[in-house]
Amino acid sequence: MKQNSKLDYPFSKRPPDGGTIEVTPNIFWLRMPLPIALNHINLWLLEGDEGWTIIDSGMATKESKTIWNNIFTKSLKKKPVEEILITHMHLDHSGLAGWLANKWDIEPHFTEKEFLETVKINNGMNDDQQRIYLDYYKKCGYDEEAQLHFIERNKYRQSLVTNLESSFQELDDQQTVKLSNGLWQIIIAQGHSPSHACLFSEENNVFICGDVLLPRITPNVSVNPAYPDGNPLKDWLDSLENIKQKIPDDVLVLPSHGYPYKGAHLRIETILKNHHDKLNKIYENIDEPKTVVELFSVLFESQINKHNIILAVGETMSHLNYLVAESKLSKSIDKNGLYSFSRT
Ligand SMILES: [Zn+2]
Repeated sequence: MKQNSKLDYPFSKRPPDGGTIEVTPNIFWLRMPLPIALNHINLWLLEGDEGWTIIDSGMATKESKTIWNNIFTKSLKKKPVEEILITHMHLDHSGLAGWLANKWDIEPHFTEKEFLETVKINNGMNDDQQRIYLDYYKKCGYDEEAQLHFIERNKYRQSLVTNLESSFQELDDQQTVKLSNGLWQIIIAQGHSPSHACLFSEENNVFICGDVLLPRITPNVSVNPAYPDGNPLKDWLDSLENIKQKIPDDVLVLPSHGYPYKGAHLRIETILKNHHDKLNKIYENIDEPKTVVELFSVLFESQINKHNIILAVGETMSHLNYLVAESKLSKSIDKNGLYSFSRT
């Protein structure tokens, strides 16, 4: 930890909903409202001589489309959108990718895994997939009400994503991609989502981090129910260490939620510490076999209900699976059909 352990926020004002601010030459911050508890997402517009690149899209709502149409007529200085790049599959980032791509007749940039996951959300779950997910959630302690809510939630999520055509431009780790305002290096982070693309411009000393280095929120790291023994937390911690090697501490971080800041290395250290603290707390608490639900009070101050259980289960299981992979805990199914964790 640094002695002066504070992030530096160069901007005291944010754009209004649907408005923009130029944060550094040729990079504009667009604040897009969201119809969920997390009430906004920051999108980034990169200006070049010939046109623009859009980073992330917002959710597929009428309000977002109206805002985009307004931006297109009033803020792009009569230049077209040349490229669209989506950092990852979460609906606030990917929801309007298909709509934007259609409108400008271009193939969006995605990593392959994030593209496929976005298509999956748009298609909805079939009965088999739903059964696999519910089987996992029951083992994690979902009651009937939470199971029903999960089914409803999927339908709602489907409505927040527009259809994606089958072609996209694939992003790979370490790739240098030419966007409207210059060259950007792609740095992939795994754990928060399968293959989240972050963008680093050495020339501008700017890091567009998506959800990876948010200034105030520690991004959720969840086990994917389709791979119930997966260890996404290991991928996440490794990804953060990797990013720390790749970007300078004084880089301007442009996050998807909250204000731009400087202090990337400190933020990475804080997030890493947060996870290691949680791992310690869980391990200390498992002095006798525990189910997932029995560990919620160890990790979360707020009451867990049908609305937030999906994140709570995901986060708790990712830490438990990490400890299982480290051979500190073992996982079994108890007499009630629930996952049960014990010290080895
Ligand atoms: Zn996300």
